[in-house]
Amino acid sequence: MGKKCIICDEEATFCVKGTTTTYCKDCAVEQFGDVAYLVAVEDEAKRLKEVLDGQVDDTSETHSETNSSSGHDDE
Ligand SMILES: [Zn+2]
Repeated sequence: MGKKCIICDEEATFCVKGTTTTYCKDCAVEQFGDVAYLVAVEDEAKRLKEVLDGQVDDTSETHSETNSSSGHDDE
């Protein structure tokens, strides 16, 4: 389910950090020599989801400006 290795089309285990390039372990090692440059697909997916879920807190720019438009807000 999910990502496939871009080289051999097997199920991908790793992806290159910050990209959507995914590799199975064998191809990842072949390409990079080490998986240290790579993150586990599951971890990355989880992280992305967390970022998306919690993106409200990502940029903590406070909107403390009062919208001083004269009108009633009945909520
Ligand atoms: Zn592969």
